[in-house]
Amino acid sequence: MPATPRKYLIRTFGCQMNEHDSQRLAGLLEADGMEATDDVANADVVLLNTCCIRENADNKLYGNLGHLAAEKQKRPDLQIAVAGCLAQKDGALVRERAPHVDVVLGTHNVGRAAELLHEAREHDRPIVEILDAAPDDGDDAFPSALPVRDLPHAAWVTIQIGCDNKCAFCIVPAVRGKEISRPFDELVAEVEKLAGDGVVEVTLLGQNVNSYGRDLTRRRPLFAELLRAVGAVDGIQRVRFTSPHPKDLRPETIAAMAETPAVCEHLHLPLQAGSDRVLAAMHRGYTAGRYLEKLATARRAIADLAVTTDIIVGFPGETDDDFERTLEVVAAAEYDSAYTFLFSPRPGTEAAAMPDDRFIPPAVAAERFQRLRLVVERSARRKHEARLGRTEEVIVEGPSKRDATVLTGRTRQNKLIHFPAAGLPVGTIADVFVTAAAPHHLTGELVGVKAPPARRSRIPVVAL
Ligand code: SF4
Repeated sequence: MPATPRKYLIRTFGCQMNEHDSQRLAGLLEADGMEATDDVANADVVLLNTCCIRENADNKLYGNLGHLAAEKQKRPDLQIAVAGCLAQKDGALVRERAPHVDVVLGTHNVGRAAELLHEAREHDRPIVEILDAAPDDGDDAFPSALPVRDLPHAAWVTIQIGCDNKCAFCIVPAVRGKEISRPFDELVAEVEKLAGDGVVEVTLLGQNVNSYGRDLTRRRPLFAELLRAVGAVDGIQRVRFTSPHPKDLRPETIAAMAETPAVCEHLHLPLQAGSDRVLAAMHRGYTAGRYLEKLATARRAIADLAVTTDIIVGFPGETDDDFERTLEVVAAAEYDSAYTFLFSPRPGTEAAAMPDDRFIPPAVAAERFQRLRLVVERSARRKHEARLGRTEEVIVEGPSKRDATVLTGRTRQNKLIHFPAAGLPVGTIADVFVTAAAPHHLTGELVGVKAPPARRSRIPVVAL
C-alpha cells in the first residue's frame, strides 16, 4: 500500500508578496509529495510565513507559536517552520523565544523549505538557515516549483524581489535585499504557461515594479515593455501590477497601460504623505506636486482609471500643517480607496531611531487618522456612486461570506461587487449592472455570462 502523504498547513501574515511566497512554498511542498490541510490536528508540518512590515508582527507570530507549543507537546513529530521577513530579520532569536520551532528559513532561501524540513527530521535537530542575500543564479529567489493558487483564473507573478530605495519607515530593503529582476523571456514564458492552464488574470508583483529590469545585464527592458508583452499573451484578459513607486512612474508605463487592452484601468500609487517636508524625511523622492502631476497625466491617458493609495499618518515630526497638506492632496487626488496606516516604528529602520521628541502622541495621531478616513471614505463613496447604472465586466471569485446565494467578484477597476446569482463557478466572466454603491463595495444584478471559468481550483493556503 502506498504511504499516506504527509500534510502541511501554511499560515500567512502580511502583504501580497507574502501570500504569493506562501503559494510558492505550497508548490514546493507539494512537489515534495505533501498534501494541504486546513486542520492543525492533521498537519505534519505547520509553516508560518511571517511579515515584519505590518504592525504586531511579533505578537502574531509568537501568539501562533504559543498555541502550536501545546500541539507539539502532544505530537512531537509535528514539524513547525517559520519563514518570511520576520524570520529573515530575527533568525536564531525565533528559536530562542520558541524552542519548539524545528526550522527557521529566510526570504532568500524559500526554495530550500522542503530540503530543510527533511534535514531537520532525518537528523532530529533544529535548523536555522538565513542567507544575507539571494544566490547569484536567482534559483532560490524564484523557486521553480509551480505555486499552488487559491483562485483558478488568477495568478501572481513575481517579476522582481528586493528594493533599492531607502524609505525611512520601511524594513523591506534590510530583509529582502537589493532589487533582482527576473529575466524578461522567462516571465513571458511563465505567463504563457499560466494562460495555457486557464489563467486569464495575472498580477505582476514587485516592491517597485517601475524599476523592473534596471539590474538586468544583457538587455534592460522597461516595465512598460513587460506590460505590453504580458498583455499580448493569448488568453490573458487582465493584467494588474503592484506596486509602482511614484518617483519611477514613467510616461512609457502610462502609455503601455493606455494602449494595452488587457492592462486593467487601475493604478495603485502609494502617496504616503502629502507634505513635501514629510516626504523628504521619508526619502520618498517626489513632492506632492509632482505626484499629482503624474496622476493627472495617467488620468488623461487612461480612460476610466481607478486610483488607490497607501498613506501613513503620524510619521515622526509630522505637524498639524503637514497633516493638513496630506488632507489637501488626498482630496485633490480623489482616490477610489486608500490603505491608511498609523505610523508604527519598525526596529531597524531609520524612522524607528528618530529622537523620542519627534514621535507623535498616540491621541493626536488617532485623531488625524479618523479625519483622514472621513476624507478617503467621502471620495470612495463618490467614485463608487459614479458607477451606478453602468454594466461592469466582473470575474467571479466565489460566494459571498455572508450569503451563499450572492456571488462576489472584481471589476476591471478592482472593485468588489456582490450580486445574486448562486451557482456560477469561480472564474466565470459576467456582465453585472450596478444598482447600489457603498464606500468599500458595489452591488449589482447579473446581466449575462461572457465566458466560462478556468479549469483548476484549490484553497490550501490560510491567510490570516
Ligand atoms: S519603495 Fe520604499 S516602501 Fe517600497 S519596499 Fe522599497 S523602501 Fe519599502
